[in-house]
This record gives sequence, C-alpha cells and structure tokens, in this order.
Amino acid sequence: MFGKILIANRGEIALRIIRSARELGIETVCVYSEADASAPWLELADQTVCIGKGPSADSYLRIDRIISAAEMTDSEGIHPGYGFLAENAHFAEVCRDCEIEFIGPSPEAMALLGDKISCKRLAKKAGTPIFPGTDGEIEELDEAIEVANEIGYPVIVKATAGGGGKGMRVAKNVDELRNAVTSAQQEAIASFGNGAVYLEKFLESARHVEVQVLGDKHGNAVHLFNRDCTSQRRHQKLIEEGPAPGVDVEVRDKVCESAAELIRNAKYSGAATVEFLMNKEQQFFMLEVNTRVQVEHPVSEMITGVDIVKESIRVAAGEPLSWKQNEIKLNGHAIECRLNAEDPSKNFMPQPGLIETWQPAGGPGVRVESHVRPGYRIPPNYDSMIGKLIVHGRDRTEAIARMRSALGEMKVGPIATTIPLHQQLVQEKNFVDADFDINWVERLLDS
Ligand code: ADP
Repeated sequence: MFGKILIANRGEIALRIIRSARELGIETVCVYSEADASAPWLELADQTVCIGKGPSADSYLRIDRIISAAEMTDSEGIHPGYGFLAENAHFAEVCRDCEIEFIGPSPEAMALLGDKISCKRLAKKAGTPIFPGTDGEIEELDEAIEVANEIGYPVIVKATAGGGGKGMRVAKNVDELRNAVTSAQQEAIASFGNGAVYLEKFLESARHVEVQVLGDKHGNAVHLFNRDCTSQRRHQKLIEEGPAPGVDVEVRDKVCESAAELIRNAKYSGAATVEFLMNKEQQFFMLEVNTRVQVEHPVSEMITGVDIVKESIRVAAGEPLSWKQNEIKLNGHAIECRLNAEDPSKNFMPQPGLIETWQPAGGPGVRVESHVRPGYRIPPNYDSMIGKLIVHGRDRTEAIARMRSALGEMKVGPIATTIPLHQQLVQEKNFVDADFDINWVERLLDS
C-alpha cells in the first residue's frame, strides 16, 4: 500500500479522497491554487503545496507543477478526482514515466474507452448494448446517408473525441445530415484537434441510466448496480438515484454485467461509469464510459456499502478488489441532490462570495459531502457545486421522504443556491412516479 499520495483536485472530492486515504493509513498531500489558500479541506491534509494562481490553467491543470509537488513530497501516487486532469491520458502517462502511480486506469485503457469509436467497438464485443449506427468514423458522406436510411431518422453525428456536448449535431433528414457531418467535423477539429465523427440513432425521449463499475490489475471487474441521472439541466446532472427505478431486475443485471465485462476486456483498473440512454421499452444504448470517479458515486456507496474511493486507491496500489460480485448486495435506495451556488431565478447564474450560514442536514440515512463552512468564501474560478446531499432509505418512497425532510433542514446563506429548486423537483409527480426523460427539468423550468 502507498505511504503517501497527492490529491490533484480541490473541494468536496479532495476532502472525500483525504477521508478514504486516512482510513487506509495513507498520508495525503493537497496541491492548491492561491484562490484556495485558506480552504477548509487543506487543514485535513498532511502536507500542502501551492501550485499557482486561481485560474485552473495556472494551477490544477499544470501537469509540470503537480508532478514537481509529488516528487518534492515523495508522494507515491496521484489521485486526480474528477474534472481537471482526471481523464487526461497524457497526464496518466507522465505519471507513469515519473514512476508515480496514477490512481485510475492505465493511459492505454483510458484512451481506449475515452475514444468513442474504439469504446463502441469494444462494447460490441463485450455484449454491452450500443446504439445502431456507423461502425466507425464517417469517411464518405454517402456511407453515412446509407446507414441513416437503414436505421431511420433522426440521427446524431458525434465527435469520436467528444466531450462536454461539443461536436454533436442532430439530423432529421438527409439535407440536415449533410450539414451536420460538415459542421460536427469542423467543431470537433476546433475543440479536440480531431475531426473524426460517427453517426448513431438519436433517441428523442430517454432516461439516463448508468452503471458503476470497478476493476483491478488482476483482470477482475465488478459492478455496483445502476443509477438514474435523468434529472438534468443543459446536460448537467441535478439529481441522481440508485438503483434506477422502473428497470426490471433481469434487464438491470444483464446490462450491469455487460458493463463489468466491458471494463474487464479493456484491462481497466479503478472506478468507471458506463453511461446509457434507456427508452420506454427498457432498451439500453451506451453513450460513453467515464474513466474516473464521478460526482454521484456516493449513491452507489450507500446502496452497496462499498467505499469506491478506497477501492480505487487499493487497486492502484496493486491489490485485488476486496469485493467479489456475489458479495455485493443491493440494499435500499439512495438519492443525491447536487447543491450548487447558483441562482435559479437568474438563469442559474453562479453565486461566488461569502457563505455566512451553513447548517447541514443530519439524522439517520443522511450524508452531506461538502467542503464549505460558515465564513467560507466561494472563489469565482471553479465549478459552483458547494456540496452534495445524499439520503438512503429502505426503499424509494422512504428515500424521497427523507430527501424532502433533509432539504428542508439545509440552511445556506446569504448566497442563492439550487436547494429551493430541488425542493420543488422532489415534489413533482413526474419525479415521484419516475415518469420522466432527460428533458423533463428543462420543460418544467420553461413553463
Ligand atoms: P459528451 O461526451 O460530449 O458529454 P455524450 O455522448 O455523453 O457526449 O452525450 C451528451 C448528451 O447528448 C447525452 O447525455 C444525451 O443527452 C445526448 N445524446 C448523445 N447521444 C445521443 C443519442 N444517440 N440520442 C439522444 N441523445 C443523445
């Protein structure tokens, strides 16, 4: 096991990693930017190293400085958390070259699953359900038109290097398809320096259901069941829950096992999420694989008892997974609400500034993952998430009741937050009945 690891991240995930490391008896080094100089989580780290100014490009994205900090402090591993460098295969490679363990997949596994075409090909072999579409990159427009005619419109053209919703175009007919291919290619070159695009069926009304998986360096992989993340705004998840409601057990187990098989075939070590869209007929289609720990990982921790962050550190150190698939039992239901310092009445404008009041919810089955405290000043440089409220109940009904009660206990001020929006969402009939699709929140906000 490692003696010391460096955390190349900030906020609640830095705190989350510190906690798991401490349980494992591992010392932690936190790198931080000048904007985070007085941040609360730094007090829990064994060592801290300032790596630059507030903007991420001058600090949390500076590979050279992070590696220097790791070398200076004799850190044996680097945990990237999520965001920043977490899905940067070059960073994982630099870590390896410097003989520092990247706490995540190998650069090869990351690149294989991070490229949407190679990921889709591997998924096909593993039996993971994928969208019908082109087998690989669109080389000739005619070939794309032929495939679109076969599978039927609407179709979506997507960049193989895609991320953040860039390089995607929906086409309802052949004329739109011609434009979609060219403009998606142009946007993909501008955004990713890689113009490769492919085509797949576009699902008009779907739910987002994903599978949490874990792999080790000994060829083992397990799944921790699924999560529903259908409640989104502009592709940003707001509420996540698990297990995904309204999915038959046989369907669920088959898809979850296929997701584990996919990462096993990719020789993947660490935590990953295989994301799918699901239609009303419970057909699944893989969207992509996120090769890192996700914001919503506590949902899966609550329903299985597995500490995902601890496992990710253990497997990076070369240990086998400490859980076999048949030891992982589904227990109850969990829901997570992301608490963002944003003003829903002002088009979700971020609200940096001083938090005077911070009174988190508590009680049985309630978990708050947050790095803030009264007197904390939210810097303007980063993501606006100030915490996550997670509840666990014996079933979905109890979890919803618990979430309503816990949201009512949260007192945060004077900045505006998304808490009142969550209070509304968890009362909506669509949410209670799990009768929703990925556009339901936007439709509600528009009305
Ligand atoms: P990115 O990596 O850019 O986030 P994804 O492949 O995850 O790209 O897609 C982002 C979002 O676009 C999805 O969450 C979904 O809402 C929508 N989307 C992508 N592919 C499809 C599809 N085939 N049908 C319907 N919606 C899609």
